[in-house]
Amino acid sequence: MGTPQTALPITNEYGFYEIRMESIGGLGANLSGKIMGELGALYLGYNSSNFASYGSEKKGTPVKSFIRWCDPSQEIRFNSPVEKPHLLGLFHERLAGKVPVMAGVDANSIVVVNTELGPDEMRDRLKMHAGTLVCVDALNISIEAKTRVNMVMLGAMAKASGFIPLETLKQVVIDTIGERYPRALAGNLEGLERGYAETQSKAFEDDGKYPYQEYTEVKREWGYDNAPIGGANPHFGSMINNDMTATREGFIPVFKKEACINCGMCDTACPDMVYQFVKGEYRGKPSMVNLGPDYHHCKGCLRCVEVCPTDALTVGLEREHEDTMWDVHVRNQDLIVDKMEFEDAGVSGWVDSESIYNKLD
Ligand code: SF4
Ligand code: SF4
Repeated sequence: MGTPQTALPITNEYGFYEIRMESIGGLGANLSGKIMGELGALYLGYNSSNFASYGSEKKGTPVKSFIRWCDPSQEIRFNSPVEKPHLLGLFHERLAGKVPVMAGVDANSIVVVNTELGPDEMRDRLKMHAGTLVCVDALNISIEAKTRVNMVMLGAMAKASGFIPLETLKQVVIDTIGERYPRALAGNLEGLERGYAETQSKAFEDDGKYPYQEYTEVKREWGYDNAPIGGANPHFGSMINNDMTATREGFIPVFKKEACINCGMCDTACPDMVYQFVKGEYRGKPSMVNLGPDYHHCKGCLRCVEVCPTDALTVGLEREHEDTMWDVHVRNQDLIVDKMEFEDAGVSGWVDSESIYNKLD
């Protein structure tokens, strides 16, 4: 039991400084939580705990990571989720509205968001009740520094906290992932430094604009014993009890039809069957023709871009295509709707066993 480098600036009624990270699989929030856990225990002299909660471990699924720090004279016997974070990292801005990421945020909270927006606009998007909002364009910085979003977010969270020393954070990264991936170290350290340096911050009082959001555990309404049989899911690429429409990582494949030679490599590489091929004609011969991706199902892994032999597929940033692309791209249910005869129910309805029996009657 040593003496902490710095006293914790604030703790809750149980003596803990609490951090929550809200992310999607593939952005490195789980690793960030481990780094924060190690930083607290081995470098800053606190008692520290960390655990993460995630679903299928698939890229793109919602992930939460929780960190608790306290004075070394105190033991941590809590392993419940962090309900009222002092420091919240939001690794993907589009989680707002899909998942209750702002739950438990109050005037004592500092929220760090990966966004190119400024704090005023971002507060409205998040419907943030009160607290300090810190914006950092982690996606673009990570591209420029050849690192991952999580390094930039860690740097920004250290700065926002007001007491996590950048040099100590860098040392943890050098000692952990620097040992395993030495070639990525320079980019990772640059990501930390730029995240630390390139933040915009603003404090918001409780001005009545947005209500406080309570943290509630997500309870599933349906289980094995009461789920209805059959159905149609209104949320593209989602499960009925898990809205995954915010699951791209920030990157998208941009499709240029005139450069496509309909080789089908993208379709073979894509793990989510995003590309829509129909019978048609190519260079005067009958062929399966690529209509492009159904972005509702794309998680931005970019495997298709890697295998495309022409420049028909290139890497784009999702946020740059907000208004132009989403309404016009091909949707796979538009191709299969006749065959599947969804019309009777409509894809936004849930068909259960009773409605099927009604139809049979
Ligand atoms: S990026 Fe390409 S390979 Fe990955 S899910 Fe999207 S369409 Fe499929
Ligand atoms: S891999 Fe490229 S060229 Fe081949 S079908 Fe896909 S988009 Fe077209």
